[in-house]
Amino acid sequence: MTSETSAPNRLDTTADNLTEDSTQQGLTAEQYKRKMEKRKAVQQQRLAERTVEKGLIIVHTGNGKGKTTAALGMVLRSLGHGYKVAIVQFIKGAWEPAEKAVFEPWSEQLEFHALGEGFTWETQDRDRDMAKAEAAWNVALTYIQNPTYRTILLDEVNIALKHGFLSIEPVLAGLAQKTPDTHIILTGRGAPKALIDQADLVTEMKLIKHPFREQGVKAQPGIEF
Ligand code: ATP
Ligand code: MG
Repeated sequence: MTSETSAPNRLDTTADNLTEDSTQQGLTAEQYKRKMEKRKAVQQQRLAERTVEKGLIIVHTGNGKGKTTAALGMVLRSLGHGYKVAIVQFIKGAWEPAEKAVFEPWSEQLEFHALGEGFTWETQDRDRDMAKAEAAWNVALTYIQNPTYRTILLDEVNIALKHGFLSIEPVLAGLAQKTPDTHIILTGRGAPKALIDQADLVTEMKLIKHPFREQGVKAQPGIEF
């Protein structure tokens, strides 16, 4: 996947330059103090010039672990702020009972739908996969069009897009209908470029090591579910 990074502004660059050598070795105590004073002032200016608030289209993609977990962290934060949250899971079983149980006390704020199939090698039925993915998308759309939901997680929707079970056009058109305050998080490997282009916040989890691969370690409670 290619991801373009947009140009940072002048203050961002100054901040980066001031902390470029993170050990700051070779500086006297006085030099270090002055540099950090300057860094703090830059940081205060950076915070002051960021005044915009908006609902974001957020994409978690890539082959490394953490796409769904990071999205769950945002769900947790949203619930803590009293927001209504909807989760539509595009792959059945991706969501484990432990997470479901934790969210049980939040049932007044949280709607949860497990609507996917296993996909591809599990179902071995492409027409059925497509019908399931489309049905899941239609449920997602009802939340996107409902302004009372502030955070919407479409877990593993990128997989449905990647396999062509769901077309990108209606998804982009649906995302464009969201209310300005609403955050929508789309997770899964292989997010299409058109989705990345429309998103505001995109993170690619990069695989460096995974014990399932290198050590034959199975999925473990607390880590994977
Ligand atoms: P998580 O749900 O742990 O945040 P994820 O959403 O980034 O993971 P998925 O592609 O949805 O990753 O895969 C879900 C499951 O597969 C998790 O149990 C995860 O630990 C495991 N997994 C993720 N990446 C890898 C990998 N590179 N190799 C093997 N297993 C992986
Ligand atoms: Mg996942």
